[in-house]
Amino acid sequence: MPNVSKQHISDKEVKVAFAPLVLQSLPIGVIVFDRELKIVSANPTASGLVDIKTSVDVTLVAGTSEKIWGDWRKILLEVIETGKICRLDNVSYRMADKVSVLQITFAPLTDSLNGIIQGGLLLLEDITEKANVQKQMATTERFAAMGKLASKVAHELNNPIDGIMRYINLAKRIIGEQNLPKPVEYLEHASDGLKRMVQIITELLEFSRSRYSALEDTPLDKIMDDAIRFMEPAVKTAGVEIERQYQSPLPKAKSGNLFQVFCNLLKNAVEAMPGGGKVTISCSVSEDNIAIIKFKDTGEGFSLENSDAIFEPFFTTKTGKGTGLGLAICRDIIEKYGGKITAQNAPEGGSIFTVYLPLNA
Ligand code: ADP
Repeated sequence: MPNVSKQHISDKEVKVAFAPLVLQSLPIGVIVFDRELKIVSANPTASGLVDIKTSVDVTLVAGTSEKIWGDWRKILLEVIETGKICRLDNVSYRMADKVSVLQITFAPLTDSLNGIIQGGLLLLEDITEKANVQKQMATTERFAAMGKLASKVAHELNNPIDGIMRYINLAKRIIGEQNLPKPVEYLEHASDGLKRMVQIITELLEFSRSRYSALEDTPLDKIMDDAIRFMEPAVKTAGVEIERQYQSPLPKAKSGNLFQVFCNLLKNAVEAMPGGGKVTISCSVSEDNIAIIKFKDTGEGFSLENSDAIFEPFFTTKTGKGTGLGLAICRDIIEKYGGKITAQNAPEGGSIFTVYLPLNA
């Protein structure tokens, strides 16, 4: 071992000795590649973040979606060609079973002596945690804005609806006295429709205030059966079969808005099978006292790209028909119970929505 203190080391020698060390110890991933996009070197942080292959474009495609991020090759060659730095934020990268969010910077590798671009550098930063916090903040803000909007709209609609309801009742009484059964029937349909609108407004107001009404302890199977009964007309029209797989006996839970959640999940399952199919509803309780409620349908499932978005308010693929509020409201309700709701596509087709509900909360 040389005695460093006794030797004179020039500035240049220090730079040469430390350069590889710096690269190895950097907390950001660095991949160096040549003009043919072949990887020349990569530091350990880079190997921890991406699946290193022989060339840098293949390395990127291995864990990201070509469809979303376009042609990596094109971006890399452009950086080498133009010498311009390119940065991409929030790139989802899958390695093994883990998906992380990366910030990727592409920079040209220029020879300082002659200014010729020899290749490029890929700088990788893991921003998963930052992205999660940002997403959470954006969701919270959007929920708050939506809550305000919902309560304003609901408030504005309440008064005219109240007036229409009064006029309908008045007309019903007068027409009834003249013994005209058909117009009375039509008015009854109209007032049913209005009652439904009032229900939606109440739900929106309820949601915006995040406050629950009925909090009685009710057996889970009773809440579920009530929801199934409520949805029966839609289930029948779509030609959907329902299979119940309840563990017996099922415990009680604070009914709150669980009914609304179950109706929504069943409604979505039915709408996912316009040509008919089957919904299997299972309810069981885990050893750690969490009720697990699954809705499995035989529809087309959802696109994996949308797996997070489907829980966002106003996200819908039912153009003209959906509001995109159902799952957002379900998630809000279940989270208020201290639980969670997940969505996955079943390997044999269809989707599975699972509610995890802590029973001792
Ligand atoms: P909406 O039903 O009004 O569209 P939701 O928030 O309930 O709003 O659902 C959002 C989106 O999630 C739907 O538009 C659909 O794309 C997707 N989705 C929900 N449930 C299912 C399901 N069971 N199968 C397939 N996709 C579903």
